Amino acid sequence: MPDPNTPESSEVREIRINPIVPSESVLVATARSMRPKKAEELAPRDTRKHVETCPFCRGNEHKTPPVILHWPPEGDWQIRMVENLYPVLGDDREQAGFNFGLQQTIDGYGRHEVIIDHHEHGIAIHEMAESHLAALFGVYQTRMRQLFESDERLKYVLVFKNFGPAAGASIPHTHSQVIAMPVVPENVDAEVKNSAAHYAKHHHCIFCALIDEALTFEATIYDRTSGAVRRKINVGQYVVERGEKFIAIKPFASRYEWEVHILPLAHQADFLDVRGEDLADLARVVKRTMARLDAVIGGAQYNFFLHSVPHDSQQRAHAPSYHWHLEICPRTSIPTGFELGSGLFVNTINPEQAAERLRTVEL
Ligand SMILES: [Zn+2]
Ligand SMILES: [Zn+2]
Ligand SMILES: [Zn+2]
Repeated sequence: MPDPNTPESSEVREIRINPIVPSESVLVATARSMRPKKAEELAPRDTRKHVETCPFCRGNEHKTPPVILHWPPEGDWQIRMVENLYPVLGDDREQAGFNFGLQQTIDGYGRHEVIIDHHEHGIAIHEMAESHLAALFGVYQTRMRQLFESDERLKYVLVFKNFGPAAGASIPHTHSQVIAMPVVPENVDAEVKNSAAHYAKHHHCIFCALIDEALTFEATIYDRTSGAVRRKINVGQYVVERGEKFIAIKPFASRYEWEVHILPLAHQADFLDVRGEDLADLARVVKRTMARLDAVIGGAQYNFFLHSVPHDSQQRAHAPSYHWHLEICPRTSIPTGFELGSGLFVNTINPEQAAERLRTVEL
């Protein structure tokens, strides 16, 4: 959506440094010739309500590994948690290592579990009731707490969701995964260390500062020679959705075209500290953000990751500097050799324009 008053906004080519993890940078290149990604149709996701042969659908409970918990405790289950049939981490089983996220290899033990998010096979998050989503986040909390209490060697519990074949979901029934591990994932570790360094220098949380900036930042960039207004940056230009307690923002250095992060507005390091009564507001912000993504992209397939302060010996020290968040990364294209080889993400949509489209789309 190029703005005629800002001639430069239609074509941007710049390297943006992630303010939290400066070693991570993104090439924002919106010119057509710079589009290095494959724009072919991605495999569609399964939208059926019930599939007779699906082990995660109601009536096939005997086909899943042992159940860990279900919600509600009485009556027909709405959310069901089971052990993973193909765990990447085995309980107390020595393994050579595994690849996860940023190709980090760890040895050891941990747990890998699956949460069946909803009894309806192909339901998307934005189609779920707010009360259901709030219960799902409550299940995440319950299980994270149980895992941390069960084994003090566990330092991190990663909750994530792959939705749709383009996001690597191997099982089409909507589900999340929980991996409890004895080390902190490399990307979380980088965020924790960098935000601690920022705190030591500036005495404030960098995530809080970014939220403030997203809400209030205003700047006018003038042309040096003519003095004409070149670009006007508006208030709230990175805000996608706002609740009472939570906010969805488009990162300045978005790695993915439609990447959005959801954070608590008030400083909070640990996802486990979200109070039960605030889960409804979180559910509402997540649901509306997903609806916006779905409306703009047309059937969003994505990965989301929950990043929270690690439960290691530094947990207390990092409480003032780290700020938990949910990273939503829709997959609209396939990474090219250039990206895989260089480690530089290429984003072909100007994040400010992407945020505007998400914010203004009719729900
Ligand atoms: Zn199913
Ligand atoms: Zn903060
Ligand atoms: Zn993060």
